[in-house]
Amino acid sequence: MKTFYAVEQKRHDPKGFLSSGAPKPNPEQPERVDRLIAGAKAAGSEILRPRDFGLSPIAAVHTPEYLSFLQNIYARWQRIPDASPEVIPNIHPLARDGSYPASAVGQAGYHMADTSCPISAETWESACWSAWSATEAAEAVMSGEPSAYALCRPPGHHAFADVAGGFCFINNSAVAAQRLRRTASRVAILDVDLHHGNGTQGIFYGRSDVLTISIHADPVRFYPFFWGHSDERGEAAGLGYNLNLPLARKTGDNGFLEALDAALNRIDAFAPDALVVALGLDAFEGDPFGGLCVSTDGFARIGEKIATRVMPKVIVQEGGYLCDELGDNLTAFLGGVG
Ligand code: ZN
Repeated sequence: MKTFYAVEQKRHDPKGFLSSGAPKPNPEQPERVDRLIAGAKAAGSEILRPRDFGLSPIAAVHTPEYLSFLQNIYARWQRIPDASPEVIPNIHPLARDGSYPASAVGQAGYHMADTSCPISAETWESACWSAWSATEAAEAVMSGEPSAYALCRPPGHHAFADVAGGFCFINNSAVAAQRLRRTASRVAILDVDLHHGNGTQGIFYGRSDVLTISIHADPVRFYPFFWGHSDERGEAAGLGYNLNLPLARKTGDNGFLEALDAALNRIDAFAPDALVVALGLDAFEGDPFGGLCVSTDGFARIGEKIATRVMPKVIVQEGGYLCDELGDNLTAFLGGVG
């Protein structure tokens, strides 16, 4: 299986992070890339650079207003006297039904869901290349590869059409799914990250051509709190095309694989032409987030089960944070998919 990755993706280096109100180092570290490249190589994968696809695959799932914000906010922020070195919002609209703010501070609050997605000088370039890795992986399977891996970093699944959040700026899984729609009538996105894929859900919530499924730690006391509950089923034409499978904290391999069976049954009934796997490795028992207890062997079994569904597959990297086994977990998953 081919891996797509560009060195520019490593330049984004976020510092700011609050965990339950406490300042901590941001876990979405550039070093994750080195571990993931080692993991992909150990699975026998070749690392290839994606093309620069321009804005069109990104603009297919994000609003022009938001993309203009992401591209320009860092420079605008730096012109504010005594501004922080990273763009971090300090005010949010209660509901997004008022006027669109003109100021950098107002727009940061409008377009950023939380404080864990600080924007620095390198963020926009890194996020674009991450999305182009996802686009190139989609192009590869559209050209006949059975599967392809997009080593996306920064990750994407918490980004909505016009909101960043949770380390995410551009929704790479959504970019891949929308790209696949050029040749596929129906696409399923299966998100196995520890955290609910709220941005992906939001982007496709009213659509019946893209089925979104997420297996994650129950958001009742876990990020992203406001989304990821089992009664969120889609709306309008999309009603019934979103499935959330929240798991109790510390669920291990067996519980996760049971949920995966339910997800795959729903995918069978949808009969998609292509599958996007939003691959978070943070459900691992040794991940710093400590939400679920999937083992390294568990990731191999997750990959093997997904491999039983024969259709083009784009695997998009989401979360999974620094721990000794991060690369091994990717090797195990990719080996399972085969
Ligand atoms: Zn996550």
